[in-house]
Amino acid sequence: MITRCRKLAGFSEEPGRTTRTFLSAPMRECHRELTLWAEAAGAETRIDAAGNFRAFYAAEEPEAPRLLIGSHLDTVPDAGAFDGALGVVLGIALIENLRGERLPFGIEIVGFSEEEGVRFNTPFIGSRALIGRLDEAMLARQDANGISVRAAIEAFGMNPDEILEARLRGDVLGYVEFHIEQGPVLEELRLPLGVVEALAGQSKMEFTFFGRANHAGTTPMHLRRDALAGAAEWIAAVEREGHRVPGLVATVGAVDAKPGATNVIAGEVHLTLDVRHRSDDVRVAAVETLIRHAEQIAARRGLSVQHCMMLSQPAIAMDSQLIEQIEEAIRKAGCEPHRMVSGAGHDAMILAEKVPAAMVFVRTPGGVSHSPEETVNVEDVEKAIKAGAHLLKLLASSPVLQSRRTQRA
Ligand SMILES: [Zn+2]
Repeated sequence: MITRCRKLAGFSEEPGRTTRTFLSAPMRECHRELTLWAEAAGAETRIDAAGNFRAFYAAEEPEAPRLLIGSHLDTVPDAGAFDGALGVVLGIALIENLRGERLPFGIEIVGFSEEEGVRFNTPFIGSRALIGRLDEAMLARQDANGISVRAAIEAFGMNPDEILEARLRGDVLGYVEFHIEQGPVLEELRLPLGVVEALAGQSKMEFTFFGRANHAGTTPMHLRRDALAGAAEWIAAVEREGHRVPGLVATVGAVDAKPGATNVIAGEVHLTLDVRHRSDDVRVAAVETLIRHAEQIAARRGLSVQHCMMLSQPAIAMDSQLIEQIEEAIRKAGCEPHRMVSGAGHDAMILAEKVPAAMVFVRTPGGVSHSPEETVNVEDVEKAIKAGAHLLKLLASSPVLQSRRTQRA
């Protein structure tokens, strides 16, 4: 699996580093390799109209439901080899492991065409297609070269008018995504695998502090209205709030001070705010507190402040029955399962709108991801395959899940 992930990482838009965005030329090479591996394991493959790789390993009976196993095939610029790819390659390893044995449910491996939001500045294009949310507005979005999602799909050789064909049918048992944790929690706990209970909700905002730009040499300290000093005080308040509220993460990731010169007091400062928590109530309350802090700091310093909500995404719970089965499978693989919340968004969050969804996290050494330094331990990957194999067995003998055909899809 590790060799395969590294091979896929070689299919890149840039020499010497891994960058693979929505339906770029190297995505085709990626599909070609995956097709070889999946077909050798007994699956039928296709690329759907949203550019997702789909490999179907049939059940013992044709009318049986199907379990989806997948993750995404696109990457951030200068990425590592495992974010996304690991979950797809693991799905293939699981059907190889079956050595032709058929289960009471089919297995469909999905390699999503787009999750990172790099090319079109909006994420989850691939998984949205599966739940019928890849609409005309999304298809019309353009990349930096003025190429629309629709045109990119056509250029890759598919028909965007057939996008509905990519949608899930009513026969889906559930969706399971194996993904590297991309954080340090499992490593700190010395555990190879985690079960995701929920994906944190997130608020993304923009703040602007307004003061008065003036000469840095001639304006005495007590006569200043320094927008950047006010913004700095607020940044520290954001960090304090993150520490104060258990489970909250709050980040100011970008600052732009104007006019931005050594000898000028900043008159205007733009900042971003990113707040995440598993509870929507806690997140919304934290955002309100931080807005209040900004207003108080601005008032005290003779500044004004404006804010604007860019995104308010609720937390998404994973399916409780799948979580229990995964915990059991992890135990059977000889590991202690750790329940955790994902701070990052994943395709499972999108699929969860329509089908029972769950995620397994694989320990990320150093917690490093979205970087060529990203790696996995070979022993952890072995545990993940074992847990996956146990999960298939457990699901095969679970009457609850077998009979559960989602009504919602
Ligand atoms: Zn990912």
